[in-house]
Amino acid sequence: MSDRLHTLSGYLYEYQKSVTQPEEFWARIADSFYWRKRWSKTLKWNFKDPDVKWFVNGKLNITENIFERNMFTMADRPAIIWEPNDPNEASRTLTYKELFHEVCRFANALKAKGIEKGDRVIIYMPMVPEAAVAMLACARIGAIHSVVFAGFSASALADRIKDCGAKAVLTSDGNFRGSKKIAVKGLVDEALEKSPVDTVIVYQRTHQEITMKEGRDFWWHDAVADQADTNVAEEMDSEDMLFILYTSGSTGKPKGVVHTTGGYMVYTKYSFENVFQYSPGDVYWCTADIGWITGHSYIVYGPLLCGATTLMFEGVPTYPDAGRFWAVVEKHKVNQFYTAPTAIRALQAYGTEPIQGYDLSSLKVLGSVGEPINEEAWHWYHTHIGKDKCPIVDTWWQTETGGIMVSPLAGITPTKPAYATLPLPGIQLCIVDADGNELTGNGVEGNLCVKFPWPSMIRTTYGDHDRCKQTYFSTYPNMYFTGDGVKRDHDGYYRILGRVDDVINVSGHRMGTAEVENAINEHPKVIESAVVGYPHEVKGQGIYAYVICDLTNRTEENLIQEIKDSVSKIIGPIAKPDKIQLVPGLPKTRSGKIMRRILRKVAENSLDNMGDTSTLLDPEVVKQIIEGRK
Ligand code: ATP
Ligand code: MG
Repeated sequence: MSDRLHTLSGYLYEYQKSVTQPEEFWARIADSFYWRKRWSKTLKWNFKDPDVKWFVNGKLNITENIFERNMFTMADRPAIIWEPNDPNEASRTLTYKELFHEVCRFANALKAKGIEKGDRVIIYMPMVPEAAVAMLACARIGAIHSVVFAGFSASALADRIKDCGAKAVLTSDGNFRGSKKIAVKGLVDEALEKSPVDTVIVYQRTHQEITMKEGRDFWWHDAVADQADTNVAEEMDSEDMLFILYTSGSTGKPKGVVHTTGGYMVYTKYSFENVFQYSPGDVYWCTADIGWITGHSYIVYGPLLCGATTLMFEGVPTYPDAGRFWAVVEKHKVNQFYTAPTAIRALQAYGTEPIQGYDLSSLKVLGSVGEPINEEAWHWYHTHIGKDKCPIVDTWWQTETGGIMVSPLAGITPTKPAYATLPLPGIQLCIVDADGNELTGNGVEGNLCVKFPWPSMIRTTYGDHDRCKQTYFSTYPNMYFTGDGVKRDHDGYYRILGRVDDVINVSGHRMGTAEVENAINEHPKVIESAVVGYPHEVKGQGIYAYVICDLTNRTEENLIQEIKDSVSKIIGPIAKPDKIQLVPGLPKTRSGKIMRRILRKVAENSLDNMGDTSTLLDPEVVKQIIEGRK
């Protein structure tokens, strides 16, 4: 059943209803799902404790809503198309029926190993269909999954195992990533020395030599060998935990965000079909890793709840060359393509040559997530990938929000580069000033909050409810605080300006990092940039810009001057960077986000206290930046 909106006036109408009668609105959406027992009250909440419950006393299993609910109509429809790292290896397709049987077999295998409802299970696996099978099998039996990106170090893995008290780890012998083969099981063994678990199940992917510990470690194929391919799903309460997911760590120590069953299910399906305007038969591809919230909500749960065909890609955008994404789009005739600005900017640096010769005519919708997308990258994406005909959905949301909060609905909401545009139905945004006063009307700028609950919102941070309260619900009373700065322009459109902690205050003028970076990136020689504030005697704060650029036909000095001039022209002299350092790379999280807090430390020259760097992708880059400091 579809709850898809089709017109702008339809959206505006539904949005109004979702605000004036939120409970009726969500009850209507939720009624199209299969509940073993319908809820008794749609919503109970307070943002003080915080305590939020949706679909109170409802009983269900999310996997029954993916499989049983749809089995008569779509058993033979492709659920997952898998594209391997190596283009010469065969791709795989699993229909809904096949996926269902895999999930049941693995669910039975988990039960046979003593995993029960409420147990925590870490998934540390490559991007293979079995990773989705693992998540769904946990959900099937009521175990709580916590996916850890398989590029994380042994110690980051050990911390997460310990934090959630996991009973089992699901992993692989090794991973293929571009030209590299990574010895994953070795990392798991190392992590388990620090944080032991009872059971490890190993999916055989690379066939490399590994050690298996008797009584603890089992091969995936052995574990499922004798298992039945049917399974009766565990009955879950709406508010039973579905998963724990650690945030990216851009701003500090990662938080174990908890999502629950009923509300997450309702919101991920609803937002997926509306934002991407998915039609039955479309092939949808999100390039994220399942280790991030994007992978949870928009590779696995949202699309599968919608009966969609979701493509999973094991590799990286530049292997075997920078045309790989486009080769995959052509090969599988992808209709909706969803990626991150970091990937777009990286590919943009290769020019348009790698796109030539690929047929991208199947594309209907392009998406962006993870960071503000700067205008230059937006236009490149729109022109060269979307051929000026595909709407771009710039989707703003967070691990904590569970689903997309602010985004155009593809082809319905008129877009504007660098703007996430308008809130989805049910999302009541609020912009506040530093004192928590709501800024009403248009043409305002401040801190982004949400003043009413939505179904897929964070319920707690695992094992530490007070951290949840302090981080999100204490800054401004009775509001969820996102940590992001935002502007609402004269059309009522929202533009994310970057993290509030990163806002720079130059002689009393507040500036978002995204705005200044956007202007720097307009220069044709600039590939990527990051700006931070640093103490400045006269201005209070000065602007320090780290810039990756192409130096052909330019001297460093010329280029720096040109960048300063161009920022002055675009925003004004006030935004002109005081210092520009040309760098070979930027410190990023493993999900590809710029870690400005590290750059701020470098700019402030406080190098002995870098904070939590466990999610940093490449520590080498930080060393090089320190050496080249201005
Ligand atoms: P941590 O919370 O651990 O510091 P993180 O905030 O990077 O890490 P995520 O939940 O993965 O962890 O990212 C959410 C953040 O990403 C948002 O708060 C916002 O700053 C940024 N973001 C995501 N999508 C967009 C977008 N479309 N436009 C602008 N910013 C975005
Ligand atoms: Mg965050």
